[in-house]
Amino acid sequence: MSVQKADVVIVGGGVMGSATAFFLRSRGQSVILLERDQIGQYASGVNFGNVRRQGRFLGQLALANRSWELWKRLPELIDDDLEFIPSGHMRVCYREDEIAELEAYAAAPEAEQLDLKIYRGAELHQRFGFLGPDVKGGSYAPHDGHANPRLAAPAFARAARRLGAQIEERTEVAEVQKVGDDFQVTTTDGRQFHAAQLLITAGAWGQKLSAQFGEPVPLDTHGPQMAVTEPVPYALPTVIGVYTKVPEEVIYFRQIPRGNIVIGGGYRSKPDMLNRRAYVEPRSILNQVSQMRRLLPGVGNLNIIRVWSGIEGYLPDSLPVMGPSGTVDGLFYAFGFCGHGFQLGPGVGDVMAELLATGSTSTPIEPFSITRFALPAEQRSQAS
Ligand SMILES: Cc1cc2nc3c(=O)[nH]c(=O)nc-3n(C[C@H](O)[C@H](O)[C@H](O)COP(=O)(O)OP(=O)(O)OC[C@H]3O[C@@H](n4cnc5c(N)ncnc54)[C@H](O)[C@@H]3O)c2cc1C
Repeated sequence: MSVQKADVVIVGGGVMGSATAFFLRSRGQSVILLERDQIGQYASGVNFGNVRRQGRFLGQLALANRSWELWKRLPELIDDDLEFIPSGHMRVCYREDEIAELEAYAAAPEAEQLDLKIYRGAELHQRFGFLGPDVKGGSYAPHDGHANPRLAAPAFARAARRLGAQIEERTEVAEVQKVGDDFQVTTTDGRQFHAAQLLITAGAWGQKLSAQFGEPVPLDTHGPQMAVTEPVPYALPTVIGVYTKVPEEVIYFRQIPRGNIVIGGGYRSKPDMLNRRAYVEPRSILNQVSQMRRLLPGVGNLNIIRVWSGIEGYLPDSLPVMGPSGTVDGLFYAFGFCGHGFQLGPGVGDVMAELLATGSTSTPIEPFSITRFALPAEQRSQAS
């Protein structure tokens, strides 16, 4: 059997794996990236495209800020244009008490770099004249924006390949284990890859591999719902999202310069993990249409020209698994980004590369450690 070797093997070629491959090569590490299907085919390639920092868990803003610095420099960094537009992001609400919550978030020291401004009443409707009368307030983040998800992971993978990374598509990892000082990664077609370090960036499938090392996590899967309208004249540069605790009201949209309005939110579907398909829930799309009319009455009767969904992994605390393994030296994870990993992608790649290459990172990631789900020692061997 032929065995291929590198300093690091990465399993999973979404935006997390591809960005980490790029930043690891930039640091001189040899890298093999193994992707079961095509680079960026799953969540990373079909998401809404929000490059949003506001509204995140405050303990995640340092990571989101690091990512935002990279988003601004991506064209020079990876020699590719991901259509990132720092258009501003507006988080609106329908109730007075929700404005108080937006204010509290904006006042937190961690949110300082976001330069959030709270709008309400007449000032709100003057500045954002297209919002419906039900909208009572909003938090405006001038530096957040959006980008084209379809382009992101393939662009990082191409840049990594140009720097010498080995990228293997149509390569499904069946088994991962550590033998002596080396990780041995075996694919479903019987190939073997060895490395001193192993990074699992397998998205909604991450826990299948972490469980092989006795570190299962309670990861659940959902399919967020997306739709896009026919193009209309470009008039809405700001990304708008509703802040609410009422599930039906959760909706967000962005208009791309070509004119189409991309819409997301509402009831999520349950993906078919066997066939790797996430289906569209018709009631969700109908709900989006009625919620859009409330949020943006001028939207009228625009035709929806395409609907889709994607497979995303969620942890019970809505935080990802990111950082070193709690049990195996040289093993690292970055998966389960709970519906908000696209903005984080470049920053996760940079942080994971720093962590693997130097043993530590200057960005705090402790809240995301897999050890928060650690099993008692006696159950660990049964789990693997
Ligand atoms: C519809 C939708 C809308 C979203 N909207 C936004 C948004 O607006 N903003 C935002 O910030 N985030 C958003 N997200 C979340 C974001 O897309 C994800 O958090 C992010 O893309 C996760 O990237 P990833 O690389 O971890 O996972 P993925 O993109 O899922 O990549 C994981 C890869 O691992 C591969 N893999 C799995 N198992 C194996 C194996 N055994 N062997 C080899 N390869 C394997 C898979 O084939 C896959 O390509 C959205 C997600 C969805 C689904």
